[in-house]
Amino acid sequence: MGEFTLELNEDQKQVRDWLHGFAADVMRPAAAEWDEREETPWPIIQEAAKLGIYSLDFYAQQFFDPTGLGIPMAMEELFWGDAGIALSIVGTGLAAVGVLANGTEEQIGTWVPQMYGDANDVKVAAFCSSEPDAGSDVASMRTRAVYDEAKDEWVLNGTKTWATNGGIANVHVVVAVVDPELGSKGHASFIVPPNTPGLSQGQKFQKHGIRASHTAEVVLEDVRVPGSCLLGGKDKLDERLARAREKAKAGGERVKNAAMATFEASRPAVGAMAVGTARAAYEVALDYAKTRVQFGRPIIENQGVAFQLADMATQIDAARLLVWRASWMATAGKPFTAAEGSMSKLYASEVAKKVTAQAVQILGGNGYTREYPVERMHRDAAIYTIFEGTSEIQRMVISRAIAK
Ligand SMILES: Cc1cc2nc3c(=O)[nH]c(=O)nc-3n(C[C@H](O)[C@H](O)[C@H](O)COP(=O)(O)OP(=O)(O)OC[C@H]3O[C@@H](n4cnc5c(N)ncnc54)[C@H](O)[C@@H]3O)c2cc1C
Repeated sequence: MGEFTLELNEDQKQVRDWLHGFAADVMRPAAAEWDEREETPWPIIQEAAKLGIYSLDFYAQQFFDPTGLGIPMAMEELFWGDAGIALSIVGTGLAAVGVLANGTEEQIGTWVPQMYGDANDVKVAAFCSSEPDAGSDVASMRTRAVYDEAKDEWVLNGTKTWATNGGIANVHVVVAVVDPELGSKGHASFIVPPNTPGLSQGQKFQKHGIRASHTAEVVLEDVRVPGSCLLGGKDKLDERLARAREKAKAGGERVKNAAMATFEASRPAVGAMAVGTARAAYEVALDYAKTRVQFGRPIIENQGVAFQLADMATQIDAARLLVWRASWMATAGKPFTAAEGSMSKLYASEVAKKVTAQAVQILGGNGYTREYPVERMHRDAAIYTIFEGTSEIQRMVISRAIAK
């Protein structure tokens, strides 16, 4: 008895306060400007790199925190600062995780440092999976990777879409079809090194929210990469494909797609981002409700406003607890038998959308203007129910898990 605790330890508190300082002093004051500019906030990424916040070391430290709370705590603070800028800072991490999860030690050592660059010359990376006809339905992916045995090269052709940092990245991680017969089991991930001919940026999207984060199409035309750029290596791929073919022939139970399993584990991190945005909007609304006077008293003295704030606070805490539980489970190696990773992402993202809308309402006309940050936070929050699997897809995953 006595071991259970939800209290952060001293090291975690120190990191949280340090990140909070950066979020409050550097990100918040810059948020409106970069939202309007709709550009990658390079100077802020550089500042984060100088402080050690934008670095592989920092993420590795949080990732290997034995309680599992390092990543959710970091995400919540950075996204509390500003969602668009924060995504520009952590977007590289999504690509890095793709390499850490599937790459060999040599691949990790070669490519991950090039994803970040250094404080004097920062770089970003992109993870390119989604395609115009393959969003939720990953199995419909068409981008092809064909092996040229004579040259030991892979040749990639196709169009990726919605890629965070797509086209501006130093290193792109591209998921492509190597065996079309096997659906999503026939996919593999490739590194496309800096300045590889044939890779270009297509349309850059103008977005509703998280506008400081660059989102674009990535076009691949006869992109040749060395055999060593296949993540995990050719032997491992051949073994995996042979197993999948046997299963398909036997008509046996479908092996769980590795990419899907990775998503399930990374979803709590997106849940934590949503908690950060929700908390930010709630705090603005709470302060406003205490100071805005109508009918001779602060509006918080009306039950109609106070109860909304009570619900917002409760839902944010509930969302955080689901995120922390899933993150702890992932770190402790507990299987997500009820899709607890998806549960945390589903609930936190829906809470963020609802809470930010309520914050706009509590600020009245001011909430609807760009003079106050809740307008931006409300736009930003809409992404959480869409990327890394929509809310409908999370419900599909959860319902399948509990129906088993
Ligand atoms: C800003 C932004 C950044 C992104 N960053 C990346 C990135 O870095 N890398 C990357 O690879 N991708 C990225 N994405 C893509 C993102 O993951 C997809 O947009 C998402 O998976 C949904 O795919 P879709 O847009 O094609 O929607 P669709 O799959 O077409 O879905 C449309 C609607 O139909 C619903 N729907 C679909 N199928 C079902 C079903 N079976 N049952 C019920 N409802 C269903 C969905 O829930 C949704 O409401 C990003 C997207 C955005 C907007």
